[in-house]
Amino acid sequence: MTKINYFNRPDKPHEECGIVGVYNPKKNVAKDLFFGLFSLQHRGQESAGIATSSGFGISLEANMGLVSQVFNEENISKLQGGIGIGHTRYSTMGGSKKNNAQPLVTSGLRGEIAIGHNGNVINASELREELAIEFGSTFERSSDTEVILEMFANAPGKNWFEISSYVMRRLKGAYSLVVMNDNELIAIRDPLGIRPLCLGKLEDGWVVASESSALDNLGAEFIREIENGETLVINSDGIKSKIWNGSSKNHKMCVFEHIYFARPDSILNGELAYETRFRLGSQLFKEHPVEADIVVGIPDSSTPHAAGLAAESKIPYSDAIIRNRYVGRTFINPDQNSRDTNVANKFNPMKEIIQGKRLIVVDDSIVRSTTIKKVIAMLRKAGAKEIHVRVASPPIKSTCHFGVDMATLSQLIAANKTIDEIRDLIQADSLAYLSVEGLEKATKSKKSEYCKGCFTGKYPIPVQLEMDKLTLEKEIKI
Ligand code: SF4
Repeated sequence: MTKINYFNRPDKPHEECGIVGVYNPKKNVAKDLFFGLFSLQHRGQESAGIATSSGFGISLEANMGLVSQVFNEENISKLQGGIGIGHTRYSTMGGSKKNNAQPLVTSGLRGEIAIGHNGNVINASELREELAIEFGSTFERSSDTEVILEMFANAPGKNWFEISSYVMRRLKGAYSLVVMNDNELIAIRDPLGIRPLCLGKLEDGWVVASESSALDNLGAEFIREIENGETLVINSDGIKSKIWNGSSKNHKMCVFEHIYFARPDSILNGELAYETRFRLGSQLFKEHPVEADIVVGIPDSSTPHAAGLAAESKIPYSDAIIRNRYVGRTFINPDQNSRDTNVANKFNPMKEIIQGKRLIVVDDSIVRSTTIKKVIAMLRKAGAKEIHVRVASPPIKSTCHFGVDMATLSQLIAANKTIDEIRDLIQADSLAYLSVEGLEKATKSKKSEYCKGCFTGKYPIPVQLEMDKLTLEKEIKI
């Protein structure tokens, strides 16, 4: 039976993965890695793993489950050493199973290395065949990460910069990486910069992580975001960096990191995600004003957008929907009934606040429409007089090829119905989405052009439409 993880929002795009790396030779870093991963749990809940080294080989612990389920004092204490990487996974390529749990470890030309990957390599299938011929690589797993690992283990090059240039020339897609050997930590962001990665300073060492909120959790000072096409090498000589000369001039970071994926307290492209979300809400009301008594955000992910809309509209914000904060991971089959039950377990509208009121309900995005439909039914039952839905991102009309599980094209409601049809389906009094221009305005930054592929159908590099996340798995019949 295929098991699917619906962690917090069953009807949302699913995050990719979270990665963290720590270099601090004066101490054992496994606990820092644990707490770093803990703060990145929202990026993936299927498996978690940590690899460390004290200079004499790599120790690994990786398993299915949440970070807090996989690790305990006993197995953490076995992970010795001052260099390490950690990973928390949502499967975007390759099935959700233990042998795909990361970090992955292998031996090659340069001894033992381990890797943690966030993203999706779109030419993994071709590369797998090529590497089998070029390096005699054999593959035991069904994830694209093993293909990247084989490249780093066997690619020609006198140092990590040459190796990483070779790898960047051949990989296509999204990859933020943490790589380690016995005595070095390497961090790499793909030439388009699709997934985030940042650098922080510890008192006696360095930390790299998918999001700056993980640095905060470790008491590290945020230094900067790692540039697209940049390779950072951290070892006993200090920290060195190089940007591959084939990198894109501007970042093409996934704009959905701003809208929904990243924690609101993370810095993306130089800006706090909360502030960007606030602006998205404000822009949304400018484009689609409506009279109402209160503004309600679908908690927690839409709260900043709703706060921005409320500020712009001068209509009071209300926490009229309470989210059950203790709903944890559930492994359920993705049929319609179970999704509906999941939504009911998660949200509770407060009748006393809602009764007789005209509501603006703000959602950060709509994928299938399952959640918003159920929420509207709850609000009607609670006595709402009018419900005007405002969505703080444009209609999602295409799938993602860079590490986000968006559902299939046939499941994307905006790819198959008009806005009026969706409004009728979810039974809202009115429905409006932010425009692509409004999204660009609210996320405007000199440094980034952003990937907006799922809204526009135009991706930063050519993609094969409707790629299946289990492609490699089918090929090697695992
Ligand atoms: S297609 Fe959408 S979800 Fe995927 S990387 Fe681009 S903006 Fe992000």
